[in-house]
Amino acid sequence: MHAGMRTGKEYLSSLQDGRTVLLDGERVDDVTTHPAFAPVATVIAELYDIAADPSQGMQYVAPETGETANRVFGIPRSAADLAARRAAIQRWASHTHGWVGRSPDHVGAFLAGFAARPELFDTDDRAFGENVTAYHQRLLREDLFVSYAIIPPQVSRAATASGWGEDFLQAGVVDQTDEGIVLRGSQMLATGAAVADEVLITCIKPLGPDDEDFAISVVLPVNAEGLKLYCRRPYAPAATSAFDYPLTSRYDEPDALVVLDDVVVPWERVFANRNLSVVRDQFFGTPAHALGNWQAQVRFATKLNFIAGIARRVTQVNGTDKIPAVADKLGELASVVAGVQSGVDAAELTATLDPSGVMVPGKQALYGAMGLQPETYPRVIGILRDLVGGGVLQLPASVRDLTSELTSPDVRHYIQSPGVESTERVKLFKLAWDVIGSEFAGRHQQYEMFYAGAPFVVRGVYAFRNFGYDAAVADVESFLSGYTVETPDQEA
Ligand SMILES: Cc1cc2nc3c(=O)[nH]c(=O)nc-3n(C[C@H](O)[C@H](O)[C@H](O)COP(=O)(O)OP(=O)(O)OC[C@H]3O[C@@H](n4cnc5c(N)ncnc54)[C@H](O)[C@@H]3O)c2cc1C
Repeated sequence: MHAGMRTGKEYLSSLQDGRTVLLDGERVDDVTTHPAFAPVATVIAELYDIAADPSQGMQYVAPETGETANRVFGIPRSAADLAARRAAIQRWASHTHGWVGRSPDHVGAFLAGFAARPELFDTDDRAFGENVTAYHQRLLREDLFVSYAIIPPQVSRAATASGWGEDFLQAGVVDQTDEGIVLRGSQMLATGAAVADEVLITCIKPLGPDDEDFAISVVLPVNAEGLKLYCRRPYAPAATSAFDYPLTSRYDEPDALVVLDDVVVPWERVFANRNLSVVRDQFFGTPAHALGNWQAQVRFATKLNFIAGIARRVTQVNGTDKIPAVADKLGELASVVAGVQSGVDAAELTATLDPSGVMVPGKQALYGAMGLQPETYPRVIGILRDLVGGGVLQLPASVRDLTSELTSPDVRHYIQSPGVESTERVKLFKLAWDVIGSEFAGRHQQYEMFYAGAPFVVRGVYAFRNFGYDAAVADVESFLSGYTVETPDQEA
């Protein structure tokens, strides 16, 4: 392993830092040993070990630091850079089969995007761009795992925070000192924050002219004084075994409401302070949004391929794969998954250099795939649900039914398929249930439908704006201009 790259062991020990993670009315002592967090932290540690192994091809010399770094945190400046970056993202995604949405490469890509245009953050009185650049260099040097909380809490969507009639429900600036700014309030959800190093707190939802207090962009260590994470109910501790819940037991990422109790943010950690235009432009006036969401699509395609593999295997085991109607369903599944994969490929092939010299994935393909995602994922899950039938319930309660003398003879005899002994069949169908039916599965459906914004945003804003309608309309206008009301008479 390269001496400079962070190892899984180093990552795990850095999590024992006094952070305030709250669960079931209590503070969690140590996320690396707690059953809700230890499994996914272990998986993240494995990702760091993969990246630290030069033979895995994830390392490069970052021009920004002149040192060896993980490609997933880099700024792509050529087609070759983008291809290598994608291969590195793919390497991590394949390790989790796409089931960890917020691995360190997700927010890392946003931060690389910010750092590609640091001047956007500068104001008349402060050079915030220097903070953005310095933070990106830290990311490259220290392999940080940064999570983000960029959506206001769901208090009321009828107004923005200034109209809620209650001060600082959403995270905002309550004070400013020589030391930095003081933040109070909350942000909706930060996936992975409980096992991350840092959290980016900002707001991607449009703010109104009276929302200046909430127009912030800062990075905080998760153990910052006054930062509290209120986690949703975890699913991993309820997983009876890896055999019974193969996905829940490994990949349950914590989602947490982030509360800031007068947290002091030193100036060097501030990217935007009460600045509506910077907070808006940081995502779309830099390559951040495109780079971060392309990472997400690479991961999504990996996950869909995995689910397609489960579906095919289920039909083989059940002997349904030779039935034409089932082939039709597998073909539908293949088409949907191929569509997403093609979106990833097309975004890479149509990438262009932006004015700051960054190779940005093609936005028509990227946002087109994203726009369909709230339908793609439920459709894929629906096909698998259809193909497995009741097989996901004709299952022993737990692995113990396969080992107990009382139950194993019947279970092993009656739960099998031609050429597929009981253990193998039970494993496959329990995996399928963890994809379609467990609480973990339900959370994943919500995740894939919402992680990049609500469907009306992903379609009505991102896919709509990035399609390139002007060219399509120009084509229609050109066609329409080819004939007039007189044309039929002239022809006659
Ligand atoms: C599992 C999971 C993990 C997440 N992780 C993160 C994370 O790590 N970091 C982070 O910052 N966020 C995270 N989020 C939050 C995510 O970004 C939001 O869910 C998303 O932006 C949508 O916001 P919302 O949930 O408040 O939905 P809303 O904006 O409240 O919309 C909910 C629904 O209300 C309706 N609706 C509301 N407003 C309109 C409108 N103007 N026009 C039409 N229909 C409307 C639509 O039906 C819409 O689907 C996560 C969410 C989930 C589910």
